[in-house]
Amino acid sequence: MAGFLREQVCKYMCPYARFQGVMFDPDTLIISYDPERGEPRGARRKTAAGQAKPLGDCVDCRICVQVCPTGIDIRRGLQLECIACAACIDACDQVMDKVGSPRGLIRYSTENALAKHYTAREVVSHLLRTRTLLYASILLGIILATVWSLSQRIPLKVDVLRDRSTLSREADDGRIENVYRLHISNTDGVPHRYSIGVSGIDGIDIVGERLVEIPAASSTTVALSARVQPESGKKGSNQIFFEIRAITDDKLAIREKTSFFLP
Ligand code: SF4
Ligand code: SF4
Repeated sequence: MAGFLREQVCKYMCPYARFQGVMFDPDTLIISYDPERGEPRGARRKTAAGQAKPLGDCVDCRICVQVCPTGIDIRRGLQLECIACAACIDACDQVMDKVGSPRGLIRYSTENALAKHYTAREVVSHLLRTRTLLYASILLGIILATVWSLSQRIPLKVDVLRDRSTLSREADDGRIENVYRLHISNTDGVPHRYSIGVSGIDGIDIVGERLVEIPAASSTTVALSARVQPESGKKGSNQIFFEIRAITDDKLAIREKTSFFLP
């Protein structure tokens, strides 16, 4: 994406800019150009006599536009394409150093701070408000939920696929048989040996591999069939469960639901 589409990803595909528009208000800290200080912009003449009219601090070098990864001119105000990388702040500060003007013509500020000339302390005091506290609590909630879900994560995944070609068939021992494919992924950093069990109908049993060894970060597919006596369940679909459990670690287990068809 970044290689082929480049800034088009930032402008049109990245959700950050869209979020910004929704969450934004006049007290939001943004990358701002100070027009009162910068305008009227223009290149400096070598002598004071050559300078026809007094100019603001912006020397119109356009370096802030050249360094901008999304190619916008921040002097036109905040735009949806701005990804707040602050490259224009650094570039403009270097220009200000060279021309002998104070840094901060482009700086972190807010719309209200620029319009009402807030001091730094006033800017900070306006950052703590209901909206930011609410967003901070939502973010904290998301972080806690993520940490909790990572701590609960089991490094084992199982997908059970029924053989769609034959719903059920009568085996040579008179029992009814359904065929399944179990795709088992060991996402742990060490190999594991798993046992495969089945439950859900009285007397249900597995015909095929009951033990499988899977190396670290690998997966395998096991084909097996389950058999029951014809009178054990109801006609049609019956709910059953495959349980895959690591031999060496009881907590490493997954119970997957599927169906067993009885004619
Ligand atoms: S880098 Fe600074 S001085 Fe140069 S054009 Fe941008 S705002 Fe003006
Ligand atoms: S912060 Fe980055 S994206 Fe935004 S205007 Fe400045 S250079 Fe461009």
